[in-house]
Amino acid sequence: MRIAMIGGGYVGLVSAACFAEFGSQVSVVETHPGRLAALSRGEIPIYEPGLDKLVADNIEAGRLSFGSDLRAAVDGAEAIFIAVGTPPRNGDGHADLTYVFAAAEQAAAAMSGYAVIVTKSTVPVGTGRRIAELVARVRPELEFDVASNPEFLREGSAIADFMRPDRVVIGTDASRPGSAERAQEIMRRLYRPLYLLEAPILFTSLESAELIKYAANSFLAMKISFINEMADLCERVGGDVHEVARGIGMDGRIGSKFLHAGPGYGGSCFPKDTLALMRIAQEAGASSRLVEATVQVNDARKASMAARIMSACGGSVRDKTVAVFGLTFKPETDDMRDAPSIPIVHRLVENGAQVRAFDPAGMEAARPLLPERGLTYCSDALDAATGADAILVLTEWNEFRALSPERLRELMTGRVVIDLRNIYDPAAMQAAGLAYTSIGRPQHAARIASWQRSGTGD
Ligand code: NAD
Repeated sequence: MRIAMIGGGYVGLVSAACFAEFGSQVSVVETHPGRLAALSRGEIPIYEPGLDKLVADNIEAGRLSFGSDLRAAVDGAEAIFIAVGTPPRNGDGHADLTYVFAAAEQAAAAMSGYAVIVTKSTVPVGTGRRIAELVARVRPELEFDVASNPEFLREGSAIADFMRPDRVVIGTDASRPGSAERAQEIMRRLYRPLYLLEAPILFTSLESAELIKYAANSFLAMKISFINEMADLCERVGGDVHEVARGIGMDGRIGSKFLHAGPGYGGSCFPKDTLALMRIAQEAGASSRLVEATVQVNDARKASMAARIMSACGGSVRDKTVAVFGLTFKPETDDMRDAPSIPIVHRLVENGAQVRAFDPAGMEAARPLLPERGLTYCSDALDAATGADAILVLTEWNEFRALSPERLRELMTGRVVIDLRNIYDPAAMQAAGLAYTSIGRPQHAARIASWQRSGTGD
């Protein structure tokens, strides 16, 4: 099969490489000059484990190509995927569909025959139908169908998620005679390798498919906000949020994933998709109080993290050196979109701290988003810890887990460790003489009180 992928970002590039690996001929169209230049040189402009090899193998096999010529890419393609960004529209939380509609219009103008236009971007309910209207207006004579195929991959494990998904959701339009059958037949052939692996493929209406993506992300965000509230409660009443998460996660109705307490969710999807779902519900006159509460809890949590850090540092970070471990919103990605590190590092610097930061993959993407002064990028975590009064763990990269508390203590000038990802063992940190604070674990309240009494940073 020949397919075209419009957009070669986190989703488009991974999807294109995986479809090529399934055996399809995939042409990726990318307009970002930097990304396209990198792809044309055989370089991967994003960090995603395993993607470089998958892309290289499929270029070599002649199944994957990149360019800016949409007409060439869609020529003979049975499916044209739209995988462009849908960032929040300025100010109001709506998804900005400018790129999606531009891509649909460009595809319509370039098509030379029938194809199914598939939206992989996360888009509000009704977008698929609006794309169909737009294409019909631009090219009234053109035969085409539309489909919605939301993507559920997670950055950091994107290839495995795409190759072995929990499910594939495909929404088609049953209101136009023959449309659903034609589109489903093409999509079934495209995903046939997964079908053979017995990955469930769920065929729905366009509207259901569009809503499933927002509902899934909002539910996961709600789970995170829930466990974060439980972490706060644990700190007050003396529980351990890890034990609580395990205890509830073993209930099959709840499940153990997305029950890790932390500094609040961030990233390129949850913040924007929860806001977009709220707007969709508002416009439809429906209630979305649970999602609204999820967003409020998360906003408040992010804001409270700075106070928690100040408090652990004895009330002020002025003239203190703070080593920051991790900048990306989660490990195994270079994605800095809506990362909790952005407001936290700004706040630290504004309050007079000297920040020494290290991230294994995200420092290049971080530079334009973080302060220029008061921040030094380090060569590794131990370099960052050298001479630091406090260490702040913001991203749970595996390489930070393996660091010896004794070594950290030797390198530091002070002894405060604030672990917002709970990657260290409190007993081991304490045994090394470190003043360790984490999230939702019993030592938290008592220790903060004792550091405040004794002063910190020594
Ligand atoms: P991204 O910004 O990394 O990639 C989008 C790419 O599309 C950019 O490189 C941009 O240059 C390109 N582009 C925009 N308009 C174009 C056009 N007309 N022609 C060719 N290229 C064009 O975004 P992303 O993270 O890949 O997300 C894409 C969509 O997938 C969003 O709707 C997002 O919500 C959704 N999604 C993202 C993830 C994730 O983990 N990143 C997961 C699931 C779904």
